[in-house]
Amino acid sequence: MNTTNISNVRFVEKFTGREVFNFMDRFKTDDDCIAYLAYNKWGNGFACPSCGHKECWEGQKAYTMVCKSCRFIESASSNTLFHKVKFGLKKAFYIAFEMSTSSKSVSANAMAERLGVQYNTAWLFMRKVRVAMESSEQHPLTGNVTVDEFVIGGYEEGMVGRNSLSNKKKVVVAVEKNGNLGINRAYAMPIDNYSAKELAKIFTKHIDASSVVDTDKWKAYKAIAGYNITQTKSTKDSFKQVHRFIQGLKSWVRGIHHSISKDHLEAYLNEYCFRFNRHQHKNTIFHKLTERLIEEKPHNRMMLSKMRLKTYEQRRLRIRMELMVKGQLGIAA
Ligand SMILES: [Zn+2]
Repeated sequence: MNTTNISNVRFVEKFTGREVFNFMDRFKTDDDCIAYLAYNKWGNGFACPSCGHKECWEGQKAYTMVCKSCRFIESASSNTLFHKVKFGLKKAFYIAFEMSTSSKSVSANAMAERLGVQYNTAWLFMRKVRVAMESSEQHPLTGNVTVDEFVIGGYEEGMVGRNSLSNKKKVVVAVEKNGNLGINRAYAMPIDNYSAKELAKIFTKHIDASSVVDTDKWKAYKAIAGYNITQTKSTKDSFKQVHRFIQGLKSWVRGIHHSISKDHLEAYLNEYCFRFNRHQHKNTIFHKLTERLIEEKPHNRMMLSKMRLKTYEQRRLRIRMELMVKGQLGIAA
């Protein structure tokens, strides 16, 4: 498809930088945003989402295409996470800009106030952005990596060390070290307990098998096969990079979001790591995020709440199992 013949798709330059005034200047209207979507979606050619056909006509409505084979009509925002945003594309773009370019972003409450929209709609779109922020798992950590775990929700009274029965939200992190002080990239994900099976998840998802991995002396790490793991006693000095990362993450949760429900913890961790891992590419981070928002299939609230329900069921089951183990619940109950 020669896009220059299609008035629906005009060339738009990639937005770079983090300056809010430049952003406001560039995306003044919903039309500026839809033009940006159209070019990024069809700039390299059209592919029908229904039948895969590559040829199209321009639709009657601006920024729509009609498949020449099956007559499917597609708008620039459909089949993307921008599909049917209630408050208009301009505000949706602003949310994506804020969540990608600011160092900490803001809570859904603050975003709703800032944009004059309902809390629920702000929350839902921010949740969709977090879907787009999920790691592609294509660039695992390499070199010197440290793995550690922590809990979100603070210190638990009466619980010492790793306690899998604790109701605190458990998180495992892996950081790729840069020399003795810096961190190149990091990943964090929720775990149900501190077993080898749970801890191994971050290895298979985010750590290259060629890496040299440091962990503390926790026995479960011994059972993780296929990695070069060295276990040393955790001291302030030996684990300073990973501890600094954990501190930053925890203070972000406390300072911006106050508390995060277990069902959405993974999404928030994805958001944090997405920004952290691109701290050297802040200029193009907004554009990259929009590309991902275009590529992702739409997630509506029902899909998100189904996800929530699934995790809720798993949690209920887990609590029952834990109570059984503790002997507080009869097996027949
Ligand atoms: Zn088609």
